[in-house]
Amino acid sequence: MFKKILIANRGEIALRIIRACKEMSIKSVAVYSEADKTSPHTKYADEAYYIGESPSSESYLNQNKIIALAKQVGADAIHPGYGFFSENAAFIKEVELSGITFIGPSSSSVMMMGSKTAARQLMQKNNVSIVPGTTSPVSSVEEGLVIADKIGYPVLLKAAAGGGGKGMKLISSRNEFVSSFESAKREALKFFADDSVYIEKYIEDPRHIEVQIFGDKHGNYVHIFERECSIQRRHQKIIEEAPSSFVNDKTREKITRAAINAAKACGYYNAGTIEFLMDRNSDFYFLEMNTRLQVEHPVTEMISGLDLVKEQINVAAGNKLSFNQDDLKINGHSFEARIYAEDPENSFLPSTGKLLEFQIPSGPGIRVDAGFSRGSLISLYYDPLIAKLTAWGKNRDEALERLKRALDEFQIAGVTTNISLLKEICNNENFRKGKFDINFIGKEFAGGSQGSNTTSDEIEIAAVIITSLLKSRSTASEVKNIISDNNNWGRLRYE
Ligand code: ADP
Repeated sequence: MFKKILIANRGEIALRIIRACKEMSIKSVAVYSEADKTSPHTKYADEAYYIGESPSSESYLNQNKIIALAKQVGADAIHPGYGFFSENAAFIKEVELSGITFIGPSSSSVMMMGSKTAARQLMQKNNVSIVPGTTSPVSSVEEGLVIADKIGYPVLLKAAAGGGGKGMKLISSRNEFVSSFESAKREALKFFADDSVYIEKYIEDPRHIEVQIFGDKHGNYVHIFERECSIQRRHQKIIEEAPSSFVNDKTREKITRAAINAAKACGYYNAGTIEFLMDRNSDFYFLEMNTRLQVEHPVTEMISGLDLVKEQINVAAGNKLSFNQDDLKINGHSFEARIYAEDPENSFLPSTGKLLEFQIPSGPGIRVDAGFSRGSLISLYYDPLIAKLTAWGKNRDEALERLKRALDEFQIAGVTTNISLLKEICNNENFRKGKFDINFIGKEFAGGSQGSNTTSDEIEIAAVIITSLLKSRSTASEVKNIISDNNNWGRLRYE
């Protein structure tokens, strides 16, 4: 087993991994940027090292520095968490070459699944059904028009290298195609440094259902059931649950089999998630594979009784999976609500500042994963996730009641959060009955809590910068850093 693990991440997920290390008697090494100097993850780790300025490009995304540090401190493994380097095949390759173990899949699996078009080709070859559309990038407007006409509108233009709900354009009719094609390419280049886009049929009112899979380095695979992630705003998840109330035993059997086939197709090991869209008839289509630990993994832990991070470490160390499929049963029901620092009353603009009050809920069935404590600064530099609130109950109703009760207990002051929206969702009759799809928020909260969906990224960023100037009296160089930090421009969120 490893003696020391370097955690190349921050916030709640860094803490989550440190906790697993502690329970396994493995030394943990945290890294931190200027903005995170006093963050809880630096305190709980056995060792903590400063790695650079606040923009992630200068700290959490400084590949050479992180690998050199891991060697210097004698870490025998690196855990990437989610985001940052977790799905970066070049980084994983460097780690592999350095002789340090990467806690996750191989660089070649990540490479195979890293491009959405390449992944679609691979799935098609392995008989996993994909959303109808192209399996390679579309090279010109003319080619795109022919394909879109054939598929039938509406269609989605998607960035091949996309992620975090960014780089997607809905095209309702032929007239919109030309202008959308150009702007989709521009956006893809801006966010993902790759302007390849491809076309998918727009599935009307589907659900987003994903399957947690796990593989070891000995060719064993299991699935740990599905998660329902249809409650989304701007294609970004905000409430997830396991199991899905829409998936019956027969569909579960089919979708989990498809997920394991997808994992086998890329020689996968460690934790991974296969995302699908499911239509009203329970037909499902491969969307993408996330080759890492998922933000919403706690709901799977709650219903399975497993510790996915410990299992990741176990499998990375070369051990066989510590359980097999027959050992796994669904026990009860679980929800996760993502608490974001943003203002639902004000177009969901990010909110920054000091956490003057931060009281987290507790009691039966409640788990909170937070990367902050009272006094922590919520900055503009990173993902605006403050905490994940997870509730478990013996059935869906009990889990939901607990979630509602815990949302009431949360006390946060200093920044504005989305808790009011989360409460509204929990109190919604259709949500309670499990009657929803990915457009639930748009349909149920149109014009209200939904905020403006039309705010362009540029407007959002301008507003963020002005707000930060007024609030924190940032220096000119700080503002320059904020602007130049590519990751911050997109404020990518993770699934
Ligand atoms: P990302 O990698 O950016 O998260 P995904 O491909 O996983 O993008 O899609 C994110 C969300 O966008 C999905 O959960 C779903 O809500 C919506 N979506 C994606 N593709 C389609 C599609 N073909 N039809 C309808 N909705 C889609």
